[in-house]
Amino acid sequence: MSESEELDTGEHAAKRTGQMEECQRCGRKQGLVGKYDIWLCRQCFREIARDMGFKKYR
Ligand SMILES: [Zn+2]
Repeated sequence: MSESEELDTGEHAAKRTGQMEECQRCGRKQGLVGKYDIWLCRQCFREIARDMGFKKYR
């Protein structure tokens, strides 16, 4: 049973919580970056990434 539950939390979970697909910072839905388990637009991501230590992203 746990297997089916795990599968259910895969693709379907994304549809259930589809509202997560917006910038967690400014709420924008354009240019979203869903990496590192965070949802941010590229603008906010660049600022936060720099704060997190992603100096490559510049
Ligand atoms: Zn943003």
